[in-house]
Amino acid sequence: MILVVGGAGYIGSHAVKMLLDQHYEVVVLDNLSTGHQQAVDPRATLVKGDLGDKNDLEKVFGNYPIQAVMHFAANSLVGESMTDPLKYYQNNVAATLNLLSTMMMYGVKKFIFSSTAAVYGIPSVEIIGEGQLVQPINPYGNSKLMVEKILHDFSRAYQMEYVVLRYFNAAGAHLSGEIGEDHQPETHLIPLILQHLLGQREKISVFGTDYDTHDGTCIRDYIHVMDLADAHILALEALLKDQLKNETFNLGNGQGYSVKEVIETCEKVTQRKAVIEYTARREGDPARLVATSGKIEQKLGWKPKYRLEKIIQSAWGWHENHPRGYQD
Ligand code: UDP
Repeated sequence: MILVVGGAGYIGSHAVKMLLDQHYEVVVLDNLSTGHQQAVDPRATLVKGDLGDKNDLEKVFGNYPIQAVMHFAANSLVGESMTDPLKYYQNNVAATLNLLSTMMMYGVKKFIFSSTAAVYGIPSVEIIGEGQLVQPINPYGNSKLMVEKILHDFSRAYQMEYVVLRYFNAAGAHLSGEIGEDHQPETHLIPLILQHLLGQREKISVFGTDYDTHDGTCIRDYIHVMDLADAHILALEALLKDQLKNETFNLGNGQGYSVKEVIETCEKVTQRKAVIEYTARREGDPARLVATSGKIEQKLGWKPKYRLEKIIQSAWGWHENHPRGYQD
C-alpha cells in the first residue's frame, strides 16, 4: 500500500488517481487545510489527520501496510513564506521530520518528496540542471531545501531511500475533467487568467514588464500535473524494485514561456480576449526559471507529454465545468 500525504491537494490528488489506475492500493493522509475531500478518488482510503500530530501518524502506519510514502503536503506560496516563515518551517520542515521519524519507527524507508524550482533562487544559467547551485531566496525554497538535506543525511545514517522531484510550474488538470486546480486564494497565473476569461475576475495583472527577457515579462517552465504524476509513478516503481535511490530530478518541459505568451495562449485556447493590467514586479520573482529534465529522462525514461497549449486546454476544461472549483 502506498501512503500519499497531501493526497487531497492539487498535485497529490492527480498522483492518487494515477496510482489507483495503475492498481496500487492507496491511503491518503491529509488535514484538508488546503486540500479538498472531493479531490480524493473514492477508491482511495482517506484519513483526515495532521503531520503535526504523531498520534495521527502512528494510526496510519499502525493500521495499513505501507510500503512507500509520497509526500505532497506543504505550504507553497512564496509571498506568504516571506511574511510568515514560521508557518513554512513548521509545516514544511518540522512536520516532515515527524513523518520521517514515524516511517523509521515502522521500518518504512522509501520516500518520494515534492521539492521545487525555488531551491535554485536566481539561477545564473538559462536552462537549469540539477547540478546548478542551490541558493533559495525565500523561506519556501529554504524549507524545501532543508528537507532535501535531511533526506541526504537520513539516507546515509538510517538507510532511507528517497527520490526528490523538483517541480517547475505545475499547471493543467486531469483529462477526465474530474479533478483540477482549486486554491483559496488563487495566486497562480494560469487559473487566474482562465477565471478572468470566464468573467469571474475583472482583469489579469502582469507583474513586471522590465525583466531582462525578450518581452520584459517573467519566463517560466509550465509542466502538466499529469506529467508530474507520471514521474512519481516511475520513481516509485524504481524505488520498489531497488533500481534507484537517493536521486534528485528536475521536472519541467525544457521550454520557457513569458507571462505575455501564457496570456496569448489562453486567449487562443478560449477564443476570448483578456483585459490586461501591467503592474509592478512581485517580490521574490526571478526573471527566468526553465529546467532541463534530461536526467530523469535518461534514468527513468520520463518524458513530458503535454506542452503549454494542451496544458491550458485541460485547465480550461476544468474551470469551465467547475467555475467555483470543488464547490461545483
Ligand atoms: N504572475 C503575473 N500575474 C499574476 C500571477 C502571476 O504576472 O496574477 C506571474 C508571476 O510573476 C510569475 C509567473 O506569472 O512570473 C508565474 O507565477 P505563479 O504564481 O503562477 O507561479 P510561480 O512561478 O510563482 O511558482
